[in-house]
Amino acid sequence: MTVSGTAPAAAGAEALERYEPVIGIEVHCRLRTASKMFCACSADFDGAAPNSHVCPVCLGLPGALPVINRRAVELVLATGLAIEASVPPATRWDRKNYFYPDLPKGYQISQYDLPLASDGRLTVETPAGPFTIRIRRAHLEEDTARLIHATRQDGRSVSLVDYNRSGAPLMEIVTEPDLRTAEQARRYAEELQLLLRTIGASDADMERGQLRVEANVSLRPHGEEAFGTRVEIKNMNSFRSVERAIGTEIERQAAALDAGEAIVQQTRGWDETRGATYVMRVKESSDDYRYFPEPDLPPLHVDATWLDGIRAGLTELPAARRQRYRDALGLSSYDAAVIVADPDATGLFETTLAAAGGLEPRTVSTWVAGEYLGLRNRSGTPIAVDPADLAHLVRQVADGAISRANGREILALHVATGESAAGLIAARGLRQISDAGAVGAAADDVLAANPQAVADFRAGKQQAVGFLVGQVMKATRGQANAAIARAALLERLETGV
Ligand SMILES: [Zn+2]
Repeated sequence: MTVSGTAPAAAGAEALERYEPVIGIEVHCRLRTASKMFCACSADFDGAAPNSHVCPVCLGLPGALPVINRRAVELVLATGLAIEASVPPATRWDRKNYFYPDLPKGYQISQYDLPLASDGRLTVETPAGPFTIRIRRAHLEEDTARLIHATRQDGRSVSLVDYNRSGAPLMEIVTEPDLRTAEQARRYAEELQLLLRTIGASDADMERGQLRVEANVSLRPHGEEAFGTRVEIKNMNSFRSVERAIGTEIERQAAALDAGEAIVQQTRGWDETRGATYVMRVKESSDDYRYFPEPDLPPLHVDATWLDGIRAGLTELPAARRQRYRDALGLSSYDAAVIVADPDATGLFETTLAAAGGLEPRTVSTWVAGEYLGLRNRSGTPIAVDPADLAHLVRQVADGAISRANGREILALHVATGESAAGLIAARGLRQISDAGAVGAAADDVLAANPQAVADFRAGKQQAVGFLVGQVMKATRGQANAAIARAALLERLETGV
């Protein structure tokens, strides 16, 4: 019997023995600017009424002239620097001509042969080791309007156009075909999202369409240099979809090649519900967009002073931060990766360290990567933790004043109520009992009440002591220092007192 869900992975593994996948990724991301790319309309239109953020420029009305958004250019330049790309001293804009209802001018202002950034790279860390992807280019263009296909009440199909998105600044980032597995593609997209968020270039939320990932996938026999026929995949709306869609496409192409069929160059969409790709359009020949220089915009000069200012404004990049956390602060690779991958966790870790002079960074990191992110992920929404309170809590546990279990509980209460950690510890009487006399008295009571466990231990069942420690913890409402309780119990059991 085949268990549903495991068969495709098995088929994929078998196919990979014969073929090498070659994958390139194209990402479009909405830049974080106040206004649109070539007009003064607000770029904050998510959730706004359709066609409420429009003007003659972004509606493509005759005679309306574009003006370059300086901030958008700076965000692409910042991205270029962050991916170690070359930035040309001068660049220009080109018209990409095609006719479609979401493009009111009949052309899109984009960049063709002089992108703002080229020849970059991004290194992605994985549990199996790092890999580096070459990035061919990053350029700036304008977004299109949004088409909505709907059915009217009388049953007729209509297509509606919302021009709010028309003219929003968009950055396109294209890799070389350096990726070899669906998992690498997903990890690259995740690392790129983290980078874009870290430098403030984009909110890069896939579900809100701010980060759109497309993949080019082809297969070739192992050892072959020439590329196979490539298929473009669109409509992947989450990182999970990216990995599943590419994995599914690799299997589809491998099965076709095994059956002696030729791969048809085409664009396929990803159907998340069916877990399959479908044909969107077949390319007869390469598209001819008749690119030509945009006559309404002057060439753009990127002078060294401007670029130096942008470089100086860059924050610490994720790769450098992970390395600093590991090498200078002594964090485990796991904690460093988990904290850096989450901007909230990074912020809490940094501010807690600053608030707690003398605390081991490694101790703080286990609280942030473990307890804080655990609570946050269970709640499903952002949670507020005061760095000074977390610092106090970590110190109390590190000093043995309260137990780790109670520390966890206090953190959860702090998140739920907003009360201070110190106040909660005092109010709940949770101070850890480390006094040997008090713990010893509790141990005496527990031994007297559990003769069977005592007999078991003396008959050689060492694990009975774990049960007895649990009883001491229970009797003291979790306040006993577990190590001292264990020592007190063993001392009494072994001396026969
Ligand atoms: Zn406008």
